[in-house]
Amino acid sequence: MRHFPVFLDLTGRCVLVLGEGPVAARKAALLTEAGAVLRRAVHFTPDLLEGCAFALGADAPEADLRALSAAAMARGMAVNIVDRPDLCSAILPAIVDRTPLTIAIGTGGAAPVLARLVRAKIEAAIPPGYATLARLAAQFRDRLRARFADAARRRRVLEETLGGQVGALAIAGRVAEAEAAMAAAIDGAAMAAPGMVHLVGAGPGAADLLTLRAQRLLGEADVIVHDRLVGAGVLDLARRDAERIDVGKARAHHCVPQPEINALLIRLARAGKRVVRLKGGDPFVFGRGGEEAAALRAAGIAVEVVPGITAALGCAAEAGIPLTHRDLAHHLILATGHAKDGSVGIDFAAAARPGVTLAVYMGLATLPQLRAGLAAYGGDPATPAALVENGGTGAARVLRGTLDTLIAEAGAWTQGGPVLVIHGQVAAEDVLRAAPPVVERAA
Ligand code: SAH
Repeated sequence: MRHFPVFLDLTGRCVLVLGEGPVAARKAALLTEAGAVLRRAVHFTPDLLEGCAFALGADAPEADLRALSAAAMARGMAVNIVDRPDLCSAILPAIVDRTPLTIAIGTGGAAPVLARLVRAKIEAAIPPGYATLARLAAQFRDRLRARFADAARRRRVLEETLGGQVGALAIAGRVAEAEAAMAAAIDGAAMAAPGMVHLVGAGPGAADLLTLRAQRLLGEADVIVHDRLVGAGVLDLARRDAERIDVGKARAHHCVPQPEINALLIRLARAGKRVVRLKGGDPFVFGRGGEEAAALRAAGIAVEVVPGITAALGCAAEAGIPLTHRDLAHHLILATGHAKDGSVGIDFAAAARPGVTLAVYMGLATLPQLRAGLAAYGGDPATPAALVENGGTGAARVLRGTLDTLIAEAGAWTQGGPVLVIHGQVAAEDVLRAAPPVVERAA
């Protein structure tokens, strides 16, 4: 280790910033944020160092930077000249700021770029909610000390709470609930609070369409309870030793009934596991995420919902179909072709209007009912429609036409993957093709 890391308390202390320019301004702002009192100058004179705790130079003439460096070092004062390791006795690390949690990354001046790359990784792994977590630990320090005399016991309680439900709530930004859970854990003789279930949207298939939050939770989970439609690449992001439970259901043959899934999630959470309930697309779009969340809340288990890219968005993006369009579509309806009572649960009066894009989930088997329903409300049978299979996976297949042609061709065309139906003027668009498509519209 060439440089010894140390955190300086600069509150109310004088710091010299020599130089005038964008870099000096950026460093000055950072130092001010840390509570330092700045002394600014462009040319160096030794008296500038009087009473300073630290000195920094950037955007100043070479001779002044050298003079500052030499004078500070002669006094034994830490000095940093930006991008001049030869003139530095201290280097500034890349910082991940989750105050009071502060992470500093240094490469001994060898490769600042590498430090920034590492910082980006840490930024993703340590979400802003860790600031809340750190504040919470500080806030409850006295109470914890009063409750448990034994230091080892205190450490165990902190580990259980911060690493368990309290931590999960705090990181999810649910501060009041985290505080309540922390108080309960301390007062209740530190019984581990029941775990937490994260209802996570896995997106349409491609692993890099996950949110950063979903990716982090997958890496942390003890158990992943997932659907059939979740992409294999997504599951690969889970810890190698995490338990994976497939409760996948295909339409019409439900593998695990919903009440059993709910009971399973409750059991796992009560066993103190970190549970990720991973659902295709978004948990709250035709994913029964609402029912699962309600069942968990009724059992007293904390729930977080992490949105995912729903099939309509994944399919539209890969097929080059803008779901809304200044000229063609001002409304978007997400509907299902397979409602609870077996009917097609679509508001056909609304969907048949011009300027409406209708995206139908689970609609392949009910295309004829879709055509009949739209026709009954005056829908133009020549309106463009498209089927998108495996959209958002990088291997989407698209069949365009009208509902009539799709009904005729769908059976032979589909390869058995999930299919979304898009109906409306925009379904004829393919904005990803090099040349604008020749769109045939019925007269
Ligand atoms: N919660 C999911 C939807 C689950 S319902 C979401 O937000 O996307 C299952 C239906 O979604 C499938 O029958 C199909 O219509 C659609 N679907 C899901 N993934 C899809 C994909 N990759 N491509 C096309 N349609 C998909």
